[in-house]
Amino acid sequence: MKRIAVIGGGAAGFMAAITAKEHETKATVVILEKSDKTLSKVKISGGGRCNVTNACFSISDLCKNYPRGGRELKKSFGHFYTKDTIEWFEKKDVELHTEKDNRMFPISNQSQTIIDCLQSEIKRLGIRLSLKSPVSKITIENNEFTLAVNQESLSFDKLIIACGGSPKISGLKWLQELGYVVADPVPSLFTFNMPTESIKELMGVVAPNVSVKTQGNKQKQNGPLLITHWGMSGPAILKTSAFEARTLAHLNYQFKVQVNWSDLSEQDYLETIGEQGDKKIAKNPFNLPSRLWLFLLKKVDINSESTWSQLGKKNKNRLLNVLMNDVYEVSGKTTFKEEFVTCGGVSLSNINMQTMESKLHAGIYFAGEILDIDGVTGGFNFQAAWTTGFLAGKNSAS
Ligand SMILES: Cc1cc2nc3c(=O)[nH]c(=O)nc-3n(C[C@H](O)[C@H](O)[C@H](O)COP(=O)(O)OP(=O)(O)OC[C@H]3O[C@@H](n4cnc5c(N)ncnc54)[C@H](O)[C@@H]3O)c2cc1C
Repeated sequence: MKRIAVIGGGAAGFMAAITAKEHETKATVVILEKSDKTLSKVKISGGGRCNVTNACFSISDLCKNYPRGGRELKKSFGHFYTKDTIEWFEKKDVELHTEKDNRMFPISNQSQTIIDCLQSEIKRLGIRLSLKSPVSKITIENNEFTLAVNQESLSFDKLIIACGGSPKISGLKWLQELGYVVADPVPSLFTFNMPTESIKELMGVVAPNVSVKTQGNKQKQNGPLLITHWGMSGPAILKTSAFEARTLAHLNYQFKVQVNWSDLSEQDYLETIGEQGDKKIAKNPFNLPSRLWLFLLKKVDINSESTWSQLGKKNKNRLLNVLMNDVYEVSGKTTFKEEFVTCGGVSLSNINMQTMESKLHAGIYFAGEILDIDGVTGGFNFQAAWTTGFLAGKNSAS
């Protein structure tokens, strides 16, 4: 009888264990979890609602949401992607609903629904769950894996490593010792602190569609931007933090961001300005919240009471500049409470992405955030955990 061990009782580990047992009912499947509870990140995810996946059904579009791993995940998504996640949960009586921005949540809007589903599945299938069982060492001999767990040595035929991300490289040393290439972990998905910027006065204001780039960088990210009492947040900022996680860590989170407040080209701004005639400048034509509009006008010293036809060339240029290239100084970051992940982990060059099997050791599989894969906010991180967990489970059982 095949013995399969899953290291880690998170989303990826549960998906892997359930899938392994569903594909090989005779196998003994054990989840070894170091803490005294499982699925703790699922519990707090998505502000307690668990953003399970995203209603993005094109694999190439889906891949664009992963600053690290997107290209490689294309192979894995070919086997199991967002549609499969929705069906998988549906078959287990958990229906998901889609919000306007494509994020998908259980209809209960409670992460506990996902936890209940995964826990009742492991009970139904007879998967053993061993809590307070930290794996401290793996020994590989004659196609058998021996795990050091507390004072015991446990042997298995197949191993699924799904122990999540580590904020420090020291937490991944045991994998480096086995020969794996590990990318240095740094945080991803954080908001920007702007201690010296007066725009914080506008906390709570949302600009609906901006584009943001860090100064000196060509790549821009767009979407809503939220002004907070410490600086800036919202999808455009979080995406920037994810795509530039490594550069920003290198800069010790001291850098400048450039905001285009309506994500328009110079020509589009000029055309709209040209259409305003004798209307008052205070009435903003760019769909920006009025407090923000007045703040920007004040910043470039333009009288909001005058009309567009009274705006001289010099003022027009100043206005264009603040609308398109508004610069803010960032000093530090704040964790985004709804979702954060680690960039870095086991290099995908060590993994067969069709099966999630290690290229270094046949019989070892990897799943979830332990891998050098991370997505932007919106359900993409769990999707990577479901996909890699499914593939690791299925292929370890075959
Ligand atoms: C606050 C917050 C909110 C989030 N919200 C969302 C969201 O709404 N949508 C989304 O897509 N993503 C979200 N994420 C990201 C998502 O939670 C993770 O990407 C996902 O949980 C990773 O799953 P995992 O199973 O790989 O790792 P984890 O969930 O970290 O699970 C790993 C498990 O392994 C155990 N473990 C570690 N080492 C050992 C060892 N040596 N032996 C035994 N066990 C071990 C750990 O205790 C842990 O239980 C959120 C993250 C956070 C922090």
